[in-house]
Amino acid sequence: VASLEVKPEPTLVKAGSLEVGNGKCGVIAGPCSVESEDQIVATAKAVKAAGATALRGGAFKPRTSPYSFQGLKEEGLKMLATAREETGLAVVTEVVASEDVELVAKYADVLQIGARNMQNYRLLEEVGRVDRAVLLKRGPSATIDELLLAAEYILNEGNTRVMLCERGIRTFESHTRFTLPLATVSYLHQKTHLPVVIDPSHGTGHAALVPDMCVAAVAIGADGIIVEVHPEPDQAMSDGYQSLDLPTFDATMRRCRAVANAI
Ligand code: PEP
Ligand code: MN
Repeated sequence: VASLEVKPEPTLVKAGSLEVGNGKCGVIAGPCSVESEDQIVATAKAVKAAGATALRGGAFKPRTSPYSFQGLKEEGLKMLATAREETGLAVVTEVVASEDVELVAKYADVLQIGARNMQNYRLLEEVGRVDRAVLLKRGPSATIDELLLAAEYILNEGNTRVMLCERGIRTFESHTRFTLPLATVSYLHQKTHLPVVIDPSHGTGHAALVPDMCVAAVAIGADGIIVEVHPEPDQAMSDGYQSLDLPTFDATMRRCRAVANAI
């Protein structure tokens, strides 16, 4: 269903203020985790002023360690909804379990399926049955064909608003947290009509590498970028080392606009 042979025109996915695909480049920005109402509202206002078209923020966090911060859950979802009321930005947030889909869909415009859950087929079917756009992240050890087959689980339930996200894969290289293959964009554009979003934050794991990868993603025609941004990265409760501060995000957006007038 995702194949260009079935549908030769690129798909434009719309969710509130967010438009991704068919010439539209969406910019999803915000903290890894929602931490407080002040934090998420202030970040939302700043990323919107810089040019973001949607707000990201995790309320249910799939952490590698069970001892790490797990997210504010429904309280965090309410804070995201407040940030949307204040800014008009669409909300992108992760759902980690099938039983939470209804709850998260009550507050979110886009349901994010995290890398760890790319092959959680029951979860994919569940988000395929709700009227919310889906951002499907590539598993760090999944092939592109496995990513495309995972998308089919969602599409087959009737949900056509699916975005694919390259967020980096595991390789022998250790200078970055993951290895970010930008060729995924060109490859997928030749295989599928679904839009392709790049996540340079998880893809590199280092804030210093994120701006260049944002610009590169836009330059090669990615349909969107998703970027971790925090007002005080060293105070962040998760992924601070790969989060841009507000002035750096603003500067990065200026560079992105210089290479693509689509934003
Ligand atoms: C995230 O977006 O914060 C996240 C957990 O991403 P991933 O699933 O790609 O690791
Ligand atoms: Mn993160």
